Amino acid sequence: MDHGTLARYAACPFQAWAVETGFVEHHSAAAQAGREVHRVIAEAMRRYVELGLPPAQALEAEIINARPDVQHKAVDGLRRAARAIDRFLTSIHPDDILAYRGGSGPRSGRMSRHVLPATPDRPGVLAASEVDLLYAGASAGEVHEIDFKSGRRVWTATDVSQAFQFRTHCWLLFGRFPRLELHHVRVWNTRANVLTPAVSFSRRDAISAGALVKSAALRREMALAEFGRTCDGAEADGPVGADRRRGDDFYWPELEKCAQCPACLKCLAALAPAKDFAAEPERYLRDTAAMKAALAARMAILRAAVRARDQDLVFGDLAFGVEKPTPRPNPAADFYKPVAAGK
Ligand code: SF4
Repeated sequence: MDHGTLARYAACPFQAWAVETGFVEHHSAAAQAGREVHRVIAEAMRRYVELGLPPAQALEAEIINARPDVQHKAVDGLRRAARAIDRFLTSIHPDDILAYRGGSGPRSGRMSRHVLPATPDRPGVLAASEVDLLYAGASAGEVHEIDFKSGRRVWTATDVSQAFQFRTHCWLLFGRFPRLELHHVRVWNTRANVLTPAVSFSRRDAISAGALVKSAALRREMALAEFGRTCDGAEADGPVGADRRRGDDFYWPELEKCAQCPACLKCLAALAPAKDFAAEPERYLRDTAAMKAALAARMAILRAAVRARDQDLVFGDLAFGVEKPTPRPNPAADFYKPVAAGK
């Protein structure tokens, strides 16, 4: 079970279930471009560590091999940081590089650890992740992790300290290196070429991180039991067994989270929201955040339909598109009342 899936269960179980089982599609060009950037940096590290070649060569050569549909995005995501990454990597002796993405044998960046024991119904559950770069610290009990991110978000130290990803890495690394005392993490935003300060995790942090990972894995078990281990039996508008009375166990609306949610059009918080503000003010507010996300997703579908047809949607006295009769041009498609014929 990779950390990204577990992080989703820790954030909103229904969203996580919908993505994991394929109940909703979740593809993004930005994520694919990010994978290309990681592939290029991983190849540069491999050539440096295994062949002693300068990372700069691979950074330049490999970006050309990025998938053509996202190549320009990948170039934008790496261009500013390429030289700095080259200088940074060559400042570390290859023998001090402990693990990296795509590395093999003891230098593999992949890590896993048992999070749930086997039951009669299923085998034990492993939590897994992969570090981008891990290198030796000043003492035998310290390691440094660099995580490359090519998106638009520029991370802060607080973001790093709170991220499910790095708390999971902390727990996995303390499992992998029994004598580890400190795990230092920095996030390198390659698009802006900005590196966060180091955030340090101790063995004590690893204990609480382990509890967090376990609680996400248990929440996943609950969601799979509630909605099904696959989405095969799910109906178009929701999984069989989704019970609004148990909504608080599986639907956790928050403004930012819902706005990015690929499952918002199937979410019961959005589709069957709390009705009475006085009785349930918090749930009313949170459900409205999910509804706002669902409305934005529906508007995006309507705008895409107008673009694809190159024609407004007009049904009787209700229309949607860009042909709104208005003295001020409005390029964003929206609702309008069509002018009746003959007027
Ligand atoms: S819209 Fe919000 S509450 Fe609903 S599934 Fe998505 S993140 Fe969860």
